[in-house]
Amino acid sequence: MVVEDAHQPMVDFTVNQDTIYRDPGGPGWALVGDAFHQKNPLDGQGIYNTLFTAQALAQQIQAHRDGQPWPQALDAYAEQVHAEVDPMFRVTMGRIAREVYLTYPDWFAATVGRWLYADEDYLERWIRLLIRDLPPDTWFSYPRVAKSVLVGAWNDLTT
Ligand SMILES: Cc1cc2nc3c(=O)[nH]c(=O)nc-3n(C[C@H](O)[C@H](O)[C@H](O)COP(=O)(O)OP(=O)(O)OC[C@H]3O[C@@H](n4cnc5c(N)ncnc54)[C@H](O)[C@@H]3O)c2cc1C
Repeated sequence: MVVEDAHQPMVDFTVNQDTIYRDPGGPGWALVGDAFHQKNPLDGQGIYNTLFTAQALAQQIQAHRDGQPWPQALDAYAEQVHAEVDPMFRVTMGRIAREVYLTYPDWFAATVGRWLYADEDYLERWIRLLIRDLPPDTWFSYPRVAKSVLVGAWNDLTT
């Protein structure tokens, strides 16, 4: 979304942008990167996904050259991409929905939100998620959030 006010960024990250999956290809052509799959850029996964799709497509082009019919090669390509991209996409959208698009009362942001973002364990796990060092489905859990909140509250009470 282009914002008209010159003092605003050209792209408004607060708009929950649509996610697109197009057909992976057809007779004699295939899509990679954003052309195949586009998502909200907030968690910075687009370049990784683009490289991944290029690598996966290269493998399937090779398989096609080795005798795999093109439609099956395209199906295998799409399957590989969905398996890699979808778990991270679900987790990213969940985090962004909770932490960016949901509006919380000021007191909540000043306590629970602050405690969460001050927790080194939470931040480290988030960074490791972003660089794909943690499997998407394992990085977040409510017991861990509860621990961050307890530690933050304890620190506030004792310092
Ligand atoms: C604001 C914003 C911030 C982002 N931040 C991050 C980030 O921090 N980390 C991250 O990983 N990802 C980020 N992304 C996503 C990332 O930029 C994209 O996922 C990635 O660039 C997609 O690569 P691509 O090669 O598929 O497409 P593109 O990078 O869009 O490349 C497509 C190219 O094709 C050209 N083109 C289009 N039509 C034609 C035509 N008809 N003929 C010839 N050339 C044509 C375009 O000009 C463009 O140069 C961000 C995206 C946006 C919009």
